[in-house]
Amino acid sequence: MNYNKDQILDRARGALLGTAVGDALGAGYEFKPPLSWEFPVVFKATGQFKAGEFTDDMAQTIGVALAASRSDLRVTLDEVSKEFHRWYKEDGRGIGIQTEKIFQKVKDFSTADQLLEQSQLFVDSNEKAAGNGSLMRTAPVALLYLSNPEAVGEVASSVSALTHADADCREACIIWSKAIRHAILFENFDGIQLAINELPTFRQSYWNDLFDEADAVSEASEFTNNGWVIHAIQAAYKAIMSTATETPEHLVLGINEAVRVGDDTDTVAAIAGALLGARWGYSAIPERWLEPLSGWPGYKATDLVSLADEITEPIWL
Ligand SMILES: [Mg+2]
Repeated sequence: MNYNKDQILDRARGALLGTAVGDALGAGYEFKPPLSWEFPVVFKATGQFKAGEFTDDMAQTIGVALAASRSDLRVTLDEVSKEFHRWYKEDGRGIGIQTEKIFQKVKDFSTADQLLEQSQLFVDSNEKAAGNGSLMRTAPVALLYLSNPEAVGEVASSVSALTHADADCREACIIWSKAIRHAILFENFDGIQLAINELPTFRQSYWNDLFDEADAVSEASEFTNNGWVIHAIQAAYKAIMSTATETPEHLVLGINEAVRVGDDTDTVAAIAGALLGARWGYSAIPERWLEPLSGWPGYKATDLVSLADEITEPIWL
């Protein structure tokens, strides 16, 4: 590829670390009303997590990332299933309701088959099956297929379907993963619209209307039902767009804004952090956010940097 390797690697790392810092910062503000701009956003301990510790959002992102570092996710999702199970057994803190209901029904995680089956059954038997729990972990798909744009959408959809098979969840993951890949390569947010333009024609107006609605509201915190994938993606998008600057400081402003939305703050900030990190890079994340960062399976920021490097390594060969 005819690009600057160091800069692309910085932004690929940023997508993964942005997810982690968004999650860890948002965790201290979860299930509360929107936070006014007068209060600073800082790492806070919760009943379950230490200050600076990331939660289920990043733990599952790490699961997808580890699987991506050792297998082609177009061929098999078995490694993802195994990693999800390993986290669920060893930790499992903060797991979402939809994901937990599905995990409880699966007897054998050694292949992805039962997980997919239970996930589809959940959609078929529940009216509310469009949670935000797959969108929060979709960044590694963009890293794995930086040089293969066709694979990004296909794999984002199939990794979503392991726990979130609803069309809205799968398409949200397609749009966001493609936008993350685009931001890593081209340093802008145009990938959202480009991804919508590649959806089946009858779905394009649906998604265009949702992003138009986000453009029209005054604040991200208007999307209060953000445990739902639609409000989650609208809130994350609005947090990014309403804080846009042409400088790396945008990453900090956007993640702060995403944490301020209230309710499912860790997930909205993880989603926003992934795209902001992809656009502005690891180098835009302040040391005060990187130094205290930790979480399952005993990872620190430097481990996440290594993981991003491992996933993207094949594209330089
Ligand atoms: Mg969480």
